[in-house]
Amino acid sequence: MEKTVIKYRHCGRNIYSFSCSDAPYSHRRDDSERQCPICLQSLTFGLLDAPVALPCPFRNGHTVSCAFLIGSIHGPSHLGEWNDTEIHVGLSNSGGLVYNYTLSGVRRDDRGWEQCVCIQLCPPWRHALRESWDRELEQFSASPKWVSERFDEEREFGSCCYGFALTFINHMRSLDGKVSLSRDEFTGSHVLPRMKTVSLYINIYHAILQHGFCIASHDM
Ligand SMILES: [Zn+2]
Repeated sequence: MEKTVIKYRHCGRNIYSFSCSDAPYSHRRDDSERQCPICLQSLTFGLLDAPVALPCPFRNGHTVSCAFLIGSIHGPSHLGEWNDTEIHVGLSNSGGLVYNYTLSGVRRDDRGWEQCVCIQLCPPWRHALRESWDRELEQFSASPKWVSERFDEEREFGSCCYGFALTFINHMRSLDGKVSLSRDEFTGSHVLPRMKTVSLYINIYHAILQHGFCIASHDM
């Protein structure tokens, strides 16, 4: 999912398509030489209705520090549905390592999370909290609770990788004097709103791949 999605308005609708700069060089035209797919008129945009690029909801998790990362082994286009069995989650430290709990215990990945959903948990101005994050995450991951033999045992609390990440987030919250969040609270307040945007983006992206454009009923 590497093309840039642009949005513009014509015929009273929001129309989405890929930016022309993503077309093969020989076919490259300017975004201002487009045709409206509804009325087939060539488009001339003014100052306020020029196409805008839709922000891509996927980021390189190795460059976003102290974040909760949501990825899929099948690639970002599989993140559209919130499905526990399809997703894998992890936590990044400030050096770009992604800690995640798997069948073989806690892994520290320095690659593989290049296109994922990143939810930053520790604001940049909380220097002390950010400094303790790396140290705490390393200590937490070394706990015998997260050995590979216990991976299936943890499954009763939902997917194991999610339990690992949320337990750490709650550990950091307690150090910060905050109450713990249940799985449903965290998912409802931090994850689902973001996944809604992601799923809309993926639907639009797939529709453009199929039809060349997309007229969305939901505005993004
Ligand atoms: Zn039109």
